[in-house]
Amino acid sequence: MESYSSINFSVLGGGGEVGANCFQLAVNGCRILLDCGTHPKKDGLDCLPSFDLLDRRPDAYFVSHGHVDHCGAIPYLCKQFPSTRGFATIPSARIIDRMLHNSAVVMDMLAKERGIADYPLYDHFDVGHAMRFLEARPFSEPFTFCEGFDAQAEFIHAGHVLGSASILLRFPGHTVLYTGDISRTRQFLMGGCSRLPGKVHVDTLIIESTLGATEEETAGSYNDEVYRFAEAMRRVLHRGGTVLVPSFALGRTQEIANIIAQLQEEGELPFTPIYTVGLGRAVYEIYDKFIEYLHPHSTLRPLSRFERLGNVWDPAVVQNLLRRPSIIVATSGMMTENTPSAMLAQTMVKSSHHGIFFVGYLDPDTLGYKLLHAKPGAALQFELGAPPVNVVLEDIAQYRFSAHASRSDLAAIIDRIHPRNIIYVHGDEDALDWMRSNTGNGATSFVPAVGQTITIEA
Ligand SMILES: [Zn+2]
Ligand SMILES: [Zn+2]
Repeated sequence: MESYSSINFSVLGGGGEVGANCFQLAVNGCRILLDCGTHPKKDGLDCLPSFDLLDRRPDAYFVSHGHVDHCGAIPYLCKQFPSTRGFATIPSARIIDRMLHNSAVVMDMLAKERGIADYPLYDHFDVGHAMRFLEARPFSEPFTFCEGFDAQAEFIHAGHVLGSASILLRFPGHTVLYTGDISRTRQFLMGGCSRLPGKVHVDTLIIESTLGATEEETAGSYNDEVYRFAEAMRRVLHRGGTVLVPSFALGRTQEIANIIAQLQEEGELPFTPIYTVGLGRAVYEIYDKFIEYLHPHSTLRPLSRFERLGNVWDPAVVQNLLRRPSIIVATSGMMTENTPSAMLAQTMVKSSHHGIFFVGYLDPDTLGYKLLHAKPGAALQFELGAPPVNVVLEDIAQYRFSAHASRSDLAAIIDRIHPRNIIYVHGDEDALDWMRSNTGNGATSFVPAVGQTITIEA
């Protein structure tokens, strides 16, 4: 059995930020990547992790889940280093394939529409190549990953979205746990994260910090929030308006669509049509295939329960749609310009009888955040190349349906695991500051920035 004097951890992205998550772990001769995402707020080559820090092909990469800030750069990595082996859970492998083909389409469109240099960073062929080397593994079954190297990996349920996993890496003499995005509480479809297998002692914990700066004392439970959300939707529908719920395609869309359907079935909401959109529907089909990975008491309605949203880039389609009350669950969750949620909002904000309800995290630089905080009459641009629109609509709110652990849950996860070393990642500056000051008493803590390498004594 080999022994190690030190372990090097390098941040290619996602250090000091919620960015292009990608971390390299170098343990003696073995080099692996944890996640390989694209930065949601950057374009072109800037959205990639700092691959220049890699001096050779990684022995393997692991993907925690299918959100593009964790997997969006895989085909680019595999273009630089062909036939790199990757590992993901069985549902995630399917989701990642779908998300990456979608990214190839979106980048191609952005190259044409906005002339973004370097786009597309990869095409469908590149995605196909990368996916041939992505191996799907079940949860809770240790496997080896590095030829000739005595180390094992294991996926543990992270409770964030379908297929999401924390990654447990057992090197002889040193155990590492990377949480990925994690949730401890039950959502509508997902159960919370699983406990670690018995007798595992984690030496080094790499933990996400998304909600480190979010005070939770004022927030109610997931269920309380469902009923506040229902009340707001009821108000809009009763006055003949349309409800728009901007949602991420993976996770939030499936959760929210089922919450709304349930509210209708319980008589809390009138039976108006519920619309969902392209990628959210494609991911929904994957949820349907892997229903055994959802919480056993959750009910996933058949996709046919939800109407398909038409071409919202056609103003006539939008006008027609807004004529009758309905509820629309549409990407993007943060209302990026030109996406279905932005195209709908562009018309909806001109009237006062509709409602726009955000259900996830809003980055301050996004259109969604600006709309949520807009003063009446403020002018915002929803479609690139189109003039700004004056916002008349006032019924715009945000509800907390987080798929991320709250800060007290993050603290509880750390207490339970009780690691010697903690590396805080995937959070903005305030979140990381709070985490470092308030959690992990007694552990050696690190908040590395992008480009930094830290050395952990084994
Ligand atoms: Zn995520
Ligand atoms: Zn994330």
